[in-house]
Order: sequence, then C-alpha cells, then structure tokens
Amino acid sequence: MKSRWKEVPKIDFHVHIVLHEREDTDLQLNTLEMMLEAMEENNVERAVVLPINYPDYFPLTDDERKDWLRANNERQAELMEQGQGRLIAFADCALDGPYLQENAGAVELSRAIGELGLRGLKVHPSNLKVPADDPRLRPYLLAAERLGVPIVFHANPSAYDPDFYGATPGRIYRAMYGLSDRFVVAHLGGTAFLELLSGRGYVDLSGGLLQICELFGVEFAERLLRRIGLERVLFATDYPIFPYERYFQVLDQMNFSDEEIERIAYRNAESLLKGDEQGGGSKR
Ligand SMILES: [Zn+2]
Repeated sequence: MKSRWKEVPKIDFHVHIVLHEREDTDLQLNTLEMMLEAMEENNVERAVVLPINYPDYFPLTDDERKDWLRANNERQAELMEQGQGRLIAFADCALDGPYLQENAGAVELSRAIGELGLRGLKVHPSNLKVPADDPRLRPYLLAAERLGVPIVFHANPSAYDPDFYGATPGRIYRAMYGLSDRFVVAHLGGTAFLELLSGRGYVDLSGGLLQICELFGVEFAERLLRRIGLERVLFATDYPIFPYERYFQVLDQMNFSDEEIERIAYRNAESLLKGDEQGGGSKR
C-alpha cells in the first residue's frame, strides 16, 4: 500500500545539516546535498534547519571559535542561500565568551535576522547547561519576539544537563510567560510529554512521536495529539537522526482526515513561519 504521509507535501520543522562528524553525538553526516535529496524523495517541500547551541556543531577555524555564535549563524545563512529556497535556517544562541555580556546575544540575534536573513531562534537549554527559564536567556526571547520570529526549544530532560529538569515543556512555558505563542516545544516534550496537555504554543513530532508509539502504541499517540490539539502539531523528524520512513510507518496508521493531515504536514508550519495570529494555542 502507498504511504499517504509520504505522498503529501510537507514542511519538516526540525532537521540538522551536519558538515562534520563528532564522536560524542548522535548526529551523523548530512550535507546540504544529502538533505535536499532526502527532501525530494519524501515530498518535503521545505525544511527548518536548526543549530544546537554548541560550539563544535560546524567545523570552525580557531579564530571563528572565539565567537562561535557569530560563525554558526553565518554558516546557517550560507546553507539557506544554497538551499534552492527550500531551507529555512534558524539562528543559534550562546551564553559564553562575548555573550556573557548582557544583551550581546540580542544584538547578534538582531544581526542574524535582520542582516543574514535567518528566520527564527533555536534554544537548546541542555546544551547551554541552563534551564529554559534562566534569566540569561530572556534577552534572546525578548529579541525574537521583537523581531517577530518563532523560537524552537529543545525539550527532553537529560542526565547530561546539570539542571536535569531544565528542558521540559513546563519550564519552557514559564520561560515564555507573558510572551507570544510563536514557539515550538520540540520532540513532543521528550519524556515529559504529559506537560504538553497544560501548555500552549506548538509542538514538534521529532523523536518523541516514535518513542511514544513504541512505548504506548499508535492509538495512544493519536489520542495524545488530538488532546494537545491538532492546530498545535508540526510534522518534524530531527533528520538525519531518524529516517522519514519511521514517521510515515506510524502516522499512516492514525485516523487523520485529509484536512487534518494537511494541517499537521504543512499549514500549521506555514502560518507559524508567516506569523499569522491564528493557530498555535492562542485559543487556550
Ligand atoms: Zn534536533
């Protein structure tokens, strides 16, 4: 049987382009060409390319490493330029080096959005080793809001994170208190996914969906997504960490109407990127 989910046009809201392999991560090599090929093969029209708030994410010179945030943002902009209009690159953030200074990060984010043309902000609390609601991150969040771009937060408690509970949906909601709903809790909240039920903003399916299907079954996962609200759900994979087929295999077993599939696969992402007022959790 043909896969409905493979055929339908999609925006993948969470991918990584990986230009060098490192021993200490699960990120394997995924060049621009490899990414575009995977997108073509799987009917992914556009993909949101995310950094991970980590100095060695891209191969950098010693000089560039002194201000790795600036260098990473420039790499992200180059990828978007070379991406045939199909890649939407987000800006990185840092809390070390020159960014110990208050507001230096907000200034760099303004440059990344205004001059380099990046389209959003990625926040990875575990890699930064602070909780999502740490006051040092606040200037970045306020700047993103002022610049009118969405924020994607990595979400999943991790034993490598000294705060352990720093990257959960609840912590992200606290960080975004008083700010707009233009943010995404990635990985379906990771192991803390139940907190999504009291939340707002958007969720992305990457990784978390596969884990929930394995542990609790596809029916449970579909009920969970409906309870969260399908207007808040974004198709996303964390490619190249997880292959597209694994998502199609579980999503094809869910009972979504064509309209619901289109919403999750494409329309929610489109309106979040455009900055439409509807969608997200604004009704909640
Ligand atoms: Zn990721």
